[in-house]
Amino acid sequence: MKITNTLTGKKEELIPLNPGEVRIYVCGPTVYNFVHLGNSRPAITFDTFRRYLEYSGYKVILTQNFTDIDDKIIIKANEENVDSLEIAERYIVQYWKDSMALGIRPANFHPRTTHYVDEIIEFIEDLIEKGHAYVSEGDVYFDVSSFDSYGKLSGRKLEDLIAGARIQPGERKKSPEDFALWKAAKENEPYWESPWGKGRPGWHIECSVMSTCILGESFDIHAGGSDLIFPHHENERAQSEARYGKPFAKYWMHNGMMRFAGSKMSKSLGNFITIKEAVKKYGKDAIRYFIFSKHYRSPIDYSEDLLQEAKTAVTRGNQILNDFEQSLGDKQPFARKSSWISEKIAEFKAYLDDDFNTPKALALIFEMINEVANASDELRKLEAFHLVRNEFGPVLGIFELPESNHFDIDGLVKILIDLRSQFRKEKNYEKSDEIRGRLMELGIKLMDTPDGTKWSF
Ligand SMILES: [Zn+2]
Repeated sequence: MKITNTLTGKKEELIPLNPGEVRIYVCGPTVYNFVHLGNSRPAITFDTFRRYLEYSGYKVILTQNFTDIDDKIIIKANEENVDSLEIAERYIVQYWKDSMALGIRPANFHPRTTHYVDEIIEFIEDLIEKGHAYVSEGDVYFDVSSFDSYGKLSGRKLEDLIAGARIQPGERKKSPEDFALWKAAKENEPYWESPWGKGRPGWHIECSVMSTCILGESFDIHAGGSDLIFPHHENERAQSEARYGKPFAKYWMHNGMMRFAGSKMSKSLGNFITIKEAVKKYGKDAIRYFIFSKHYRSPIDYSEDLLQEAKTAVTRGNQILNDFEQSLGDKQPFARKSSWISEKIAEFKAYLDDDFNTPKALALIFEMINEVANASDELRKLEAFHLVRNEFGPVLGIFELPESNHFDIDGLVKILIDLRSQFRKEKNYEKSDEIRGRLMELGIKLMDTPDGTKWSF
């Protein structure tokens, strides 16, 4: 398989550090607000990339963090006069709901910054000791001039960075391109005790620490949106390689931005659609179709017309598949592996092995759906149906199940909460506790509050 490595600017053969195993770190959301459709692109892309690696026989360890301490979270918490962790918790729950609605599977690990503060402090202490960082009135900064290949990932030259940067008011760094590893606490800010006084981690250091703690000092792929290449990923690479003296991630993969009328879709510009709204309007499969219809590295323009077209295409596809499935009755939908099937699987893999070319893989799925609808021979219909339902659909996360509209987990849990209340009213505590316990086993917590029972993951 070949992937484009931002570090070298080339399409390279994927050769994992440990044969058969691919370790991936993806930068996750800062949880201070609802996630919009543009934010979902890296999670959808790299979850699906993981599915494809698994389909190809690799074991994958995927890690995606939650940034649960940050200026934006603190501002929101102060506005609402609540603890910043309460804000983070609220939007992490929302993130899970959105992810499920979009068919994004959880990663293997979802570390949170505030759970790694001790390791962050230790990391920074080591950088200071090795001469790559310095303390300045309670702040700690990374000394960019101490790391030779700074700028390699983003293709920037240190001279240009120095010329272009300014020291902002309140910053206590020696050189404008240096960046904060640790920030001294300001008034009304959450803080942790550290060797440099009360403070909190800077943004970049958390990803160096969490990726290393979970995946090791060197791992295979670091991924994220292309807006993170500079400065976030450049800084992560500098911190990690400065500390360990060995390559950090072997490959860097970046997805293009989702644009809205030519600009980047962003909350600060106010030009966005929330995931909840988008799923309600178009459904999960149409959104995934829309995203996969463009190569992951290209920008994608949000367009109601294109999403509407995607919805029409997946509705027609689902209709054809469901009609065919019903026409089968009790017959087994598939009986044998033919050379035609092997040929089509090879074609599917050839597309995705070529830098994860989802537009071509998607076109092949629709070619198969046309076979189900129009092939003159019944066996060919069966084979094409099998390929969509059991092979290709599950990889791209579309046409996976009959009626693959988004699943209303809220509604389902509500039914169980109502049943439990009924049992409690009847003083059948054995049954009501059983419902609570079995939900707990699935990771769903019930909380009895004066306003009724609430639930969360
Ligand atoms: Zn990150």
